[in-house]
Amino acid sequence: MKPDGYRKDFPMLDRGEEGNRLIYFDNACMTLKPKAVLDKIMEYYSEYSGCGGRSLHSISSRVTEEYEKARRITKGFINAPNTNGIIFTKNTTESINLISNSFIFKKGDKVLGTDHEHNSNLVPWLKARDMKGIIYDHVPSKKDHSFDIELFKEMVKGVRLVAMVHVSNLDGRVIPIKDIVEISHDAGATVFFDCAQSIPHMPVDMKGLDVDLIAFSGHKACGPTGTGVLAGKIEILEEMDTFIVGGDTVKETTYDKVDFLKPPQKFEAGLQNYAGIIGMGAGLEYINNIGLEEIHSHEIGLNRYVTKLLGDEVDIIGPEYPADRGGIFPFRILGLNAHDISMIVDEVAGIAMRSGRHCVHSWFNGNRVESTARASFYIYNTKEEIDIFSDSILQIKKDFL
Ligand code: PMP
Repeated sequence: MKPDGYRKDFPMLDRGEEGNRLIYFDNACMTLKPKAVLDKIMEYYSEYSGCGGRSLHSISSRVTEEYEKARRITKGFINAPNTNGIIFTKNTTESINLISNSFIFKKGDKVLGTDHEHNSNLVPWLKARDMKGIIYDHVPSKKDHSFDIELFKEMVKGVRLVAMVHVSNLDGRVIPIKDIVEISHDAGATVFFDCAQSIPHMPVDMKGLDVDLIAFSGHKACGPTGTGVLAGKIEILEEMDTFIVGGDTVKETTYDKVDFLKPPQKFEAGLQNYAGIIGMGAGLEYINNIGLEEIHSHEIGLNRYVTKLLGDEVDIIGPEYPADRGGIFPFRILGLNAHDISMIVDEVAGIAMRSGRHCVHSWFNGNRVESTARASFYIYNTKEEIDIFSDSILQIKKDFL
């Protein structure tokens, strides 16, 4: 289907007057929500608004049924090895904090990332370094921004946990997850991937990849805000320590003893975000109905188009070929501030895009780049929107340089 067909599913795209509609190019931060998700949330609040699990009345049974259905949908979406290995969290960040807090490390254990990590997959490891005495290191990229697999083969020796970003929110770079998993396992390391930017945009098959742990956010995948997932092999999750503890995590307590439940309950303490998680399930189903291959190829098509229009006009930061940047178009215009660019396109053309360091401060500091502007696309974006974007950028150059 053409994006026009999907656009009608997203109420935010219908906002405002004809000719003055929102152009939403901040999808790497968060996608818009389709009506199917809003309806599902409304269904929860109007038909079975209550808590799951605890109470024995029929409302509670319905909540549990819908909540566990969302777990099965999530499992299917990523082909996870086990339904009980799907832990609901509030976002990717919380999922990673869960791992960094609960994974059993010995002092001196090594964790290895890349030089493209979002703060959410860097700061928890720096904290674990300071609190638990782990050693954290990263694999620098090659000059062409690609992942240095040969260097990685050397650096992974003796590593306890490989914790890497699959698709970078900085420049759309994809790293060879299958090879990395294989090499890491051969070296005896456990592998975690931050899939915040891959899950909504391309197929990720946990069983096929044999990856041990992954995390993603529902709000980047058409789902409600404050929804996320940690998915893992059940034996690894069972070995991990508890994280946030309290109600719903225990089989039994006495005044001085606690017997914890198994995953996922062990990690889902207290009343949950039922409306959000049930809505997230509807978001994943919505994406499934479109098909991730279609979404991925649409985004690459848009990236090729914007690169053709603006490639000689702006300084693109990241891989040279649009197909290697997925749906992300990061750029700067020398002599102009990235925040100014994003504020001007918003004002003159209603374009919502991002500017700054995209929570990857370490890369910007390491590469002495001040900041970038970033347009990021999804299934509902069109070439016509990119024409407007491109005209605005050319106009800015004319007016300000
Ligand atoms: N990792 C990556 C690659 C991201 O792009 C983001 C969000 N921009 C995060 C982690 C953190 O996601 P959240 O804020 O939903 O926890």
